Amino acid sequence: MSSTMTKVTLAKEAKALRSTSMVERQYYWVLQCPCGASLEGSSEDEIVDLSFGHLRKNHPDMADVYEREHILFMAQRFVRT
Ligand SMILES: [Zn+2]
Repeated sequence: MSSTMTKVTLAKEAKALRSTSMVERQYYWVLQCPCGASLEGSSEDEIVDLSFGHLRKNHPDMADVYEREHILFMAQRFVRT
């Protein structure tokens, strides 16, 4: 009998959690360059732009080797608190 109640409650909680993560949770991306520079962007596009800017300026020979996917693979995503 009580299992129905539990299911309804869990469904409600899951819905609340989902909407919280959609609306309130903000991410930022950090890329630690092997040279020691730490780049931070507030979106995937921003960290990619910043990283390519850094590569072109400091490691021009690497700028042509890396692609967006490589940058995003190396970048770490954090939850903004
Ligand atoms: Zn660097």
